[in-house]
Amino acid sequence: MITPEEIEYRAAQVEEENYAFRTYLKMHADPAKLDQQFLELHKELFSSYDCNGCRRCCKKYHGEIKKADVEKIAASLEMEPDRFISEYLVENEEDTYKTKNAPCDFLQSDGSCLIGENRPDSCKAFPYTDCPDRMGSLLSIVQNASVCPVVFEILERLKKEYHFDKYNSYYSDNQGNPYVRIKKKIFPNDPCPCGSGIKYKKCCGKK
Ligand code: SF4
Ligand code: SF4
Repeated sequence: MITPEEIEYRAAQVEEENYAFRTYLKMHADPAKLDQQFLELHKELFSSYDCNGCRRCCKKYHGEIKKADVEKIAASLEMEPDRFISEYLVENEEDTYKTKNAPCDFLQSDGSCLIGENRPDSCKAFPYTDCPDRMGSLLSIVQNASVCPVVFEILERLKKEYHFDKYNSYYSDNQGNPYVRIKKKIFPNDPCPCGSGIKYKKCCGKK
């Protein structure tokens, strides 16, 4: 498993590949089997992972708090609801607020959450890799691979399970560019693509 400190760098290295893998899964995977694979990897990896030593999700994302839960959470902090809202929350959709800041104000130095079991459902469920219909959520899963080390690892393991060939695949990115083939990496001893008949390192790849 990669460390939380490594993830942004490592995720950037495989970002294009992960979008290609998303397209590959959309075209080839069975949705029910994919859900089962996600679920098994989720259970295996989270069973031994110390989320309190990571908490990148609490540093990067905002939790959604239901308006109906505000009174209970404010009471747990011995605060009046109005003060709790003005200090910690901003308006979101009709029946929810969002936590105001990222990193989250409730994140403690030991990785625990100040509001504990009252934390939002969206926080409890993150990164959603044990939920049904993973096929329909592959875009957010690919995006979460740059935040959550477990999601990053799940995608790496799935690529192996599907024998995914990154140099022979297509992807559509989230900018609306459809189906682009990833350029094959040219190794020094490959024939030069210019057609000269000599090795790349002795031709166009000569330093
Ligand atoms: S869910 Fe992922 S990002 Fe959040 S603390 Fe656990 S490993 Fe880190
Ligand atoms: S409410 Fe708790 S679990 Fe949710 S982002 Fe804030 S610190 Fe993390």
